[in-house]
Amino acid sequence: MNAEKVSCLIIGSGPAGYTAAIYAARAGLKPLMYAGNAPGGQLMITNDVENYPGYPEGVKGPVMMEDFRKQALRFGTEIRYGEIIEVDFTDEHRIAKADDGKVIDAEAVIIATGASAKWLGIPSEQKFMHSGVSACAVCDGYFHRGKDVAIVGAGDTACEEASYLAKICNKVYMIVRRDVMRASLIMQNRVKSLPNVEILWNTTTQEIIGNDAVEGVIVKNNITSEVRTLPISGFFVAIGHEPNSKIFRGILNMDENGYIITEPGSTRTNVKGVFACGDVQDHVYRQAVTAAGTGCMAALDAERYLASKEILV
Ligand code: NDP
Repeated sequence: MNAEKVSCLIIGSGPAGYTAAIYAARAGLKPLMYAGNAPGGQLMITNDVENYPGYPEGVKGPVMMEDFRKQALRFGTEIRYGEIIEVDFTDEHRIAKADDGKVIDAEAVIIATGASAKWLGIPSEQKFMHSGVSACAVCDGYFHRGKDVAIVGAGDTACEEASYLAKICNKVYMIVRRDVMRASLIMQNRVKSLPNVEILWNTTTQEIIGNDAVEGVIVKNNITSEVRTLPISGFFVAIGHEPNSKIFRGILNMDENGYIITEPGSTRTNVKGVFACGDVQDHVYRQAVTAAGTGCMAALDAERYLASKEILV
């Protein structure tokens, strides 16, 4: 098979992938990026981003990703709008097959495929995606300061985000589908101790309601069948994330949830010359700025790896 030889292949195009591209391109690595089936990543479904340094007035997520893309292009990144569907890292060469039929033989690979938030799957969730429904309290909680909001989920993320929202919002309804939480005890106790958090046990979300933006949520108690409408301006979904790491299963070391494991303090995976950055290897911070930071690290790690192999780029 005729493989296309490149020194640096970047898989994925969120803040991590684009930042890796900017650094790799400026270092002369001539990176080739496969942008994936959702170019720009999770920020493409984010409205206002107010916590990314350098945008004092805030910026729309898709606008920011377009800025990142242009900056990566400016230094010579080649971007292809396709997906890598299979990889083979078994010998010295790192082979990747793309959905455009091309086969890439890369000296170094940077994985920046991100993670996808899980959603409830009710129609109103999609309807209000940019107008009150969010999967990131740290990103969007500020837009609801002083107001009432609801959050669904009962894991560590939901508890952490409920605690965060409780600091800035008037009231937080926490919608828990069972009579117990999955979260660690310390996180549960923290949430339970907050006076402005009301936990609704055995409760499921029926629909989010509103005209142009979220105005309320209809919830049902599964034991009593009581249906309530909670007046809220923001609805946060915190029922977990799925790292986009399927094609690397059995090849790269991962934790039990599918997050790629990197050596602490670096982006190195268990395969030489393969680096992972952004949300596909981070279930803790999950911010655009931290993803960008690890994207930079991955490019520097790749550059050093190539230099150590005396691969001229
Ligand atoms: P988890 O998978 O741990 O929890 C998901 C939660 O969402 C569960 O309570 C689950 O309920 C609930 N859920 C799932 N689907 C639905 C649904 N359709 N409707 C209602 N509720 C639903 O995900 P997290 O993101 O919370 O955590 C992921 C990992 O990251 C964990 O290992 C966690 O410990 C870790 N983490 C650690 C943090 C820390 O240490 N500071 C912070 C954040 C995360 P049920 O329990 O009924 O299945």
